[in-house]
Amino acid sequence: MLASMEKLTSGAIKLGFPLSSGQLEQFSIYYRELTTWNKRINLTRITNPQEVPVKHFLDSLTITLAFSRPLPDTGLRVIDVGSGAGLPGIPLKLLLPGIRLVLLEATRKKAAFLEHIRDRLGLENTEIVIGRAETVGHDSRYREAFDLVLSRAVARLPALVELTLPFCAIGGRFIAQKKGAITREIDEAAGAIKSLGGSLREIKRVELEELGDERYLIVIDKVAPTAGTYPRRPGIPVKRPLT
Ligand code: SAM
Repeated sequence: MLASMEKLTSGAIKLGFPLSSGQLEQFSIYYRELTTWNKRINLTRITNPQEVPVKHFLDSLTITLAFSRPLPDTGLRVIDVGSGAGLPGIPLKLLLPGIRLVLLEATRKKAAFLEHIRDRLGLENTEIVIGRAETVGHDSRYREAFDLVLSRAVARLPALVELTLPFCAIGGRFIAQKKGAITREIDEAAGAIKSLGGSLREIKRVELEELGDERYLIVIDKVAPTAGTYPRRPGIPVKRPLT
């Protein structure tokens, strides 16, 4: 086994999830397909076999640190906004096969990879939606329809909450994965979080020696409906974040 797969295994144990041999095999297939497709389309900068299982897969699984225990596996409705190559949604699905997952991605080529890997891994209850959060967030099939909204490396928090909170059902939760200095970003997002019906619950520091650098989960509860005016037109949330 690759040393980095061993780090994925040991990190997952620390998170409270010993991975089965079947799950490890699925992560290996995911790794191989990701690096093969990455030669043709730009899915990820990180392709080194020593890095992918840790910096992509284990990092995605740290989302579970913000869940209540025992984990709510069966039927939990989850959307990954700006999923790219499937991160963090696919690692979470491999860990918790019972969730109902939507992967939302604006780029058609990346969405083609998501369809391929879903079929290759035989993932059930996994829908790929091609589109922008600003548009799909107004579609009644997806608006306020999810218990858990995830997003990793998509936008700064003041814009990101406008792209994500409209998907969150009342009583649901949005978890953003962030790296590095985050205090300013969080301060700047305070007004937007409130305007969109959210309430900052927790900023959780991820402490896993396998990952090394400073990572955080920003956990936001959805406590009130999002006004129908949000999200604004494509591009506007990032260009003119709510204050
Ligand atoms: N979440 C993945 C990860 O952590 O590796 C991908 C990160 S990548 C830097 C950002 C992704 O978000 C891109 O694939 C991009 O196409 C997608 N994206 C950016 N803005 C979006 C939007 N408004 N709606 C849907 N997808 C978006």
